[in-house]
Amino acid sequence: MNTVEIINKKKYGEALSYEEIEYMIDGYVNDTIPDYQIASWLMAVYFQGLNSDETSALTDFMVKSGETIDLSFLNTTVVDKHSTGGVGDKVSLVVAPIITSLGIPFAKMSGRGLGHTGGTVDKLESIKGFHTELPLDRFKEQVQELGIALVGQSGNLVPADKKIYALRDVTGTVDSIPLIASSIMSKKIASGADAIVLDIKVGNGAFMKTEEEARKLAETMVAIGKKLNRETVAVLTNMDQPLGTEIGNGNEVLEAVKLLRDQEYSQDLYDVSVEIAAQMVYLAGKATTEEQGRKLVEEVIQNGDAYEKFVTFIEAQDGDMSSIHEIEAKQSIDVTSEKAGYISSVETQQMGEAAMLLGAGRKTKDDQIDHQVGITFHVKLGDKLQAGDKLATIHTNIEDNAAVIQKIKDAITITQTPVQVNPSVIDVIH
Ligand code: URA
Repeated sequence: MNTVEIINKKKYGEALSYEEIEYMIDGYVNDTIPDYQIASWLMAVYFQGLNSDETSALTDFMVKSGETIDLSFLNTTVVDKHSTGGVGDKVSLVVAPIITSLGIPFAKMSGRGLGHTGGTVDKLESIKGFHTELPLDRFKEQVQELGIALVGQSGNLVPADKKIYALRDVTGTVDSIPLIASSIMSKKIASGADAIVLDIKVGNGAFMKTEEEARKLAETMVAIGKKLNRETVAVLTNMDQPLGTEIGNGNEVLEAVKLLRDQEYSQDLYDVSVEIAAQMVYLAGKATTEEQGRKLVEEVIQNGDAYEKFVTFIEAQDGDMSSIHEIEAKQSIDVTSEKAGYISSVETQQMGEAAMLLGAGRKTKDDQIDHQVGITFHVKLGDKLQAGDKLATIHTNIEDNAAVIQKIKDAITITQTPVQVNPSVIDVIH
């Protein structure tokens, strides 16, 4: 096979065969095809796209490029969830103990946060003693014994994605739907998922800014799942404001605990968590309808089973539950509204960036984060408020917070007329 011919074929919009895609991926991983040729091919893919067969083939060869985790010893359907990333997204913390308490194993590899979105590993590491560096054998044992374990991404899973993603990052080819879809699905499949629930965030704080783009990504990923025998459901959820009330790490864990332990929650966080968990319960075959899935999920929140599982999980990974309490930053500063009116829009990405300025997130992957700082958001879209009402409280360990306060003020628009608020769960795509 000839690399230039394959690049040209894609450049002119022709579909590639299974073997041609295998040749490109293998060649790149084994260093027989250089960066510049793969970069050129990626740009051709960016403009010409990939059809459904090509996208599944790409996913399949990415999975085959490295190790895979075999969870078949659990003798049950392993359902995983993935979020495309948002601000204040603590859904995994809520969903994990819910589905475990319904007898469905939760064996998850999670990432750290980068940029304006956070990561589950960082949030959990705000709990004193909690660690995510489990050897693979211990990870499997814990899933078998307790039904739940979470590790940081490690090992040699999907090396093709690591290499291709790094190249996409510097060649302007990240925002291609087939490349995003195959990148995410390959990692889920390699980490042992039989079925996958995707939380596709839509809005100004998300990767996908419009519903149209998000739907396209969702349909592409669901189609990959079908072709590769992994039942996949995509839930489109709203990211036009931070999810729930907290953005940060320790404060997000506390918010999840308040939902599970005290049934105190922001409605959007509750609705998204229940929907994602219900879809997982349904795919695992523990409910015959999605509606029954929702009922089961709500039951284990209300009767405390899910909270009990949360405690078991945290303690199994050496976390100290007593360290989850009110925020311990040096100062809390209220940000108040200068005028009365209705909250009509929130620049969500800016809110994430404000939390990052406080030290709650990383600009580069080597930055250290401060687990105790963050933002409590007191208003939601559509809320009516008076001048002087609190918009947010920042929890900070830095001296000069003027830029953060200004960023939060600039991110929130207040109008004089009531506004229509979109639902938190927009659609479910099968
Ligand atoms: N997240 C991923 O894992 N891959 C992408 O390509 C984009 C977002």
